[in-house]
Amino acid sequence: MGKPTGFMEYERQLPEDRSPLERMKDWEEFHFVFDEKKQQTQGARCMDCGIPFCHSGLLLAGMASGCPISNLIPEWNDLVFRGQWQEAIERLHLTNNFPEFTGRVCPAPCEGACTVGLNDDPVTIKNNECRIIDKAYEEGWIKPKLPKVKTGKTVAIVGSGPAGLACADQLNKAGHAVTVYERADRVGGLLMYGIPNMKLDKVKVVERRVDLMKQEGVTFVTNCEVGKDISADKLKADFDAVVLCGGSTKSRDLTVEGRELGGVHFAMAFLTANTKSLLDSNLADGNFINAKDKHVIIIGGGDTGTDCVATAIRHGCASVNQFEIMPQPPTERQENNPWPEWPKVLKVDYGQEEAIALYGADPRTYCITTKKLVGDENGNVKEVHTVNIAWQKDDSGRFVPVEIEGTQKVWQADIVLLAMGFLGPDDSVLEQMGVERDARSNAKAAYDNYQTNVDNVFAAGDMRRGQSLVVWAIHEGRKAARAVDILLMGESSLA
Ligand SMILES: Cc1cc2nc3c(=O)[nH]c(=O)nc-3n(C[C@H](O)[C@H](O)[C@H](O)COP(=O)(O)OP(=O)(O)OC[C@H]3O[C@@H](n4cnc5c(N)ncnc54)[C@H](O)[C@@H]3O)c2cc1C
Ligand code: SF4
Repeated sequence: MGKPTGFMEYERQLPEDRSPLERMKDWEEFHFVFDEKKQQTQGARCMDCGIPFCHSGLLLAGMASGCPISNLIPEWNDLVFRGQWQEAIERLHLTNNFPEFTGRVCPAPCEGACTVGLNDDPVTIKNNECRIIDKAYEEGWIKPKLPKVKTGKTVAIVGSGPAGLACADQLNKAGHAVTVYERADRVGGLLMYGIPNMKLDKVKVVERRVDLMKQEGVTFVTNCEVGKDISADKLKADFDAVVLCGGSTKSRDLTVEGRELGGVHFAMAFLTANTKSLLDSNLADGNFINAKDKHVIIIGGGDTGTDCVATAIRHGCASVNQFEIMPQPPTERQENNPWPEWPKVLKVDYGQEEAIALYGADPRTYCITTKKLVGDENGNVKEVHTVNIAWQKDDSGRFVPVEIEGTQKVWQADIVLLAMGFLGPDDSVLEQMGVERDARSNAKAAYDNYQTNVDNVFAAGDMRRGQSLVVWAIHEGRKAARAVDILLMGESSLA
């Protein structure tokens, strides 16, 4: 800890984002970066506590508290303060294969558990992380590192999201020949076709890392769906081990009258087509769901919904509203949600910021539920009918939604986007592999060894744990790699 009084001397500061009204005119990332001196000052705020809860990755009250990959946060905060950037990236890469992803999109449970956050604003851990890796790339320190020995063992990974990529990176380092199969035309899973470009640049950030992995020896096979283009049996026969990292891809549907109308889409169809068209043709091919001049209703108040808000705004929508069935969270931590738990507080994310700047109001309405969708004479949606609800306890003491009389409302809508979460993984590959499922239909594999009921077949990421976060996917990919390495070699030095 280079600056023992840093947390008392300096306030938390983040570089300003590009202004909402400006950034909504393009699809570029919206974060600016600090100059080095300012970033070093932020590193100085770390107290290097005796027990750094920030790096613990515990589950408290069902949510992550601290960093799920146990990043050595106090160590690299100190190195940032001292300006030892090269040492900082070496420490950071020990636990995180892809800090340029988490430094941009992680919700930072580390900061919710930062001790400075007990009575002040937490250290800017996520921003420090991002600056370390971005500087490392700028300085040319990130170079392909080829494995020193090859083991002659082969591993197939199904799915190229953060879990598959982290698993591949680790196993390649251990000297195994790794092939990643991806059914999409580009590598990255939801890093590529989920999270929009303005949050995570696809070419400058995602493909930069994928290219590095290719140079290091990982083989990627795109446009290849395991279970369809190549059979599960062939994969099992051709490789010493298989790791299933196919994600949680079944979107939750809305079962109301009018669901079949034109203009009603899953959020993922909207977001995926937009990014693909953007990358293929800068949206010139028209192969996306265009919200220009349309009234857009997004059902689901979470992060996927927020990405839809920001995307619709960039198309030039006439209006955008986002419905959330749960109550609005409080603006500050409540007594039943103490530090170092994940703070369940109201977040005004980038999409809402942009809607506020453009229309003057937060697009979210809370405690609202959709009763039916009504179409025009051409079978296209034109109205969403809603009612407000209150959460009340039933006879068994469970909170249930109860409709409030007289709050029925009709909303004009040309596009309705369903962003209500995900139900689990696709069935086909798991069925072909003969992999058992857990009660939530995810691939059944123990948390500590990632081994499924099928010999030499492992599962990790959202496919195993259900819809989650990039940082958890990296965690699971790394741990599954270690389990595979132990299976193949009898021991492992992978962390
Ligand atoms: C719109 C959206 C925004 C999000 N934003 C954030 C965020 O800001 N921060 C955050 O931390 N988390 C975010 N998440 C969650 C995060 O993206 C996921 O938790 C994470 O990507 C899961 O990683 P994964 O590798 O397990 O699966 P995925 O990223 O889903 O990747 C799975 C891959 O497997 C492929 N696949 C599936 N089956 C097969 C098959 N049979 N053959 C070949 N390939 C197959 C799929 O095409 C996909 O590319 C977001 C999620 C969504 C939907
Ligand atoms: S990966 Fe996420 S939780 Fe871990 S240090 Fe980075 S921002 Fe924090």
